[in-house]
Amino acid sequence: MLELKNPALLRTQSYINGQWIDADSGVTFDVTDPATGKVVASIADLGADETRRAIEAASAAWPAWAQTPVKERARLLRRWYELIIANTEDLAKILTAEQGKPLSEAKTELVYGASYLEWFAEEAKRAYGDVIAPPANDRRIVVIKQPVGVTCSITPWNFPSAMIARKVAPALAAGCPFIAKPAPETPLSALALAVLAEKAGFPAGIFNIVAGQNAPAIGAEMTSNPLVRKFTFTGSTAVGKLLQAQCAQTMKKTSMELGGNAPFIVFDDADLDEAVKGAIICKYRNAGQTCVCANRIFVQEGVYEAFSQKFIQAVNNLTVGNGFDNATDIGPMITSKAVNKVEALVEDALQKGARTLVAGGPSSMGDRFYQPMVLGNANDQMNLFKEEIFGPVAPLFKFSSEEEAIRMANDTEFGLASYFYSRDIGRICRVSEGLEYGTVGVNEGIISNEMAPFGGVKASGQGREGSKYGIDDYLEIKYLCIGGI
Ligand code: ADP
Repeated sequence: MLELKNPALLRTQSYINGQWIDADSGVTFDVTDPATGKVVASIADLGADETRRAIEAASAAWPAWAQTPVKERARLLRRWYELIIANTEDLAKILTAEQGKPLSEAKTELVYGASYLEWFAEEAKRAYGDVIAPPANDRRIVVIKQPVGVTCSITPWNFPSAMIARKVAPALAAGCPFIAKPAPETPLSALALAVLAEKAGFPAGIFNIVAGQNAPAIGAEMTSNPLVRKFTFTGSTAVGKLLQAQCAQTMKKTSMELGGNAPFIVFDDADLDEAVKGAIICKYRNAGQTCVCANRIFVQEGVYEAFSQKFIQAVNNLTVGNGFDNATDIGPMITSKAVNKVEALVEDALQKGARTLVAGGPSSMGDRFYQPMVLGNANDQMNLFKEEIFGPVAPLFKFSSEEEAIRMANDTEFGLASYFYSRDIGRICRVSEGLEYGTVGVNEGIISNEMAPFGGVKASGQGREGSKYGIDDYLEIKYLCIGGI
C-alpha cells in the first residue's frame, strides 16, 4: 500500500458536479504499478452516460462561472496551485505508483503542471480586447474576448498530471468549465487533482473527471455532444485524427497535441559535452516515453566518433529500476506491449544495418523493463526514422552538410519538437528557421515551461499550450459594431 501523509488524495471514484461517484454499472477496473505489476487501486469504470451527465452539469455551471470576476477565478486557480505544491510528495508517490517514472521526475512533473495554474491565474486578467478605428465616424468597432464554453479533454498516461494541468489551467482561467478523461493506465493522478480542486473551492460542475476504460465510448460522447464547445486532446496522431473528425460534425473548436519525431542535431561546432548532456535528458527522460523525446540523433561526420564515445559512456551510467528507488534513472515502461513495440523497431533497424553501440534491450527485471540502447549506423530506410520509438533507444545517424541535416530532420510527417547544438550564430539562425517544427531547442534538451508556447505543426497537431498565446485556444473573439453614434 502507498504510504501517504494525506491518504484522502488516493481516490477511486470519479468526480462529477462536485460529487464523488461510482459507475452506474458498479464495475471497476484495476490500475497496476508498472514496476511490480501489483494492483494499486480499483477504479470506478465510467462510460458514456456518466460523461453526458458531467457535460450537462458543466453546461449548467457555465454561465455563473463565465460571470465570476476574473480576479476570483484567478484566486481559485492560485489556491489550487498552492495545494498541489503543498502536496507534491504524496502526489509524486501516486504518480510513480501508477506510471513508473522515477520519483524525482514525478515531482518535476507536478511542479511543472502546477506552474500552468499559477501562470494562467495571472494571464486570465490580461485577456484583453481591442478598440479598432472604424471606416466611418457614426460607429465604433469594439472587440471583446469571451470563454468558448464547456471543454472536454482526453489525455495520455505519460504525464498523467501535467497534461491535464496544462489544459485545465487556461480553460478555467478563461471561464470554461472542464471535463477530463484521463488515460485508463493512470487515472489516480487526475483524481488527486480533483481532490485538491474541490479543496480549493471551485464551484460544482467546473472541474470534472470521468475515469473509464471505454475510451471510444467516452470520446464519442465528448466529441458529439452539442453542449461541448471545445475539445482538447493529447495523444497519438491516429486517435487525434479520429477525434478531430468526430468533432467536425458539431464544428467544435479543437486543440490537438499529437505525436512527434524529434530530430536532435549535433553540428561539428557544437559543445559536445553539453550536447551529450542534452541528448541524455532529452532521450531517456520518462524512459523515452514523451512526444518531445529525441527520436533521431543526427551527428555531423567530423564529431560523430567523439560524440558517440561520450554518449555511450553517459548511457552506460544510467540505472534502470523501480521508480521508488533513489538510484533509478530509468523506470519501467508503461506496459509490456510498449516494450514489444520498441523491440520490433530495434529488430527492423538491426536487419537494415544498424550496429549496437550500447546493447541494452529487454531486461531481466521484468517484461516492462528495458535497458537503454544506442544504435549506430542508422539510416532513413529504418522504421524508427519515420515512427516515434517511445522507448529508451537512441539511433545515431551520420550526416555531412547543414542542408542535409535540415532535409533529413524535416523528412517526416511530424513537426513537434526539434533540437540542435551549434555555437555558430549564422547557423543557429539558418537552422532554427529551416526546421519545420513548433519548437526548436538550440543548445537545450529540455524546452517546455509555462511561459513558452508549446505545440506542433503538420501531423503533430494544432494549438498552443502555455504562454500568453495559450489562453486564446479557450477564448472566442466577439466584434461589437456600435452604431447610431
Ligand atoms: P497512447 O499510445 O499514448 O496511449 P493514445 O492516443 O492511444 O496514445 O491514447 C491517448 C488517450 O486517448 C488515452 O486517454 C486513451 O484512453 C484515449 N483514446 C484512445 N483511443 C481512443 C478513442 N478511439 N476515442 C477516444 N479516446 C481514445
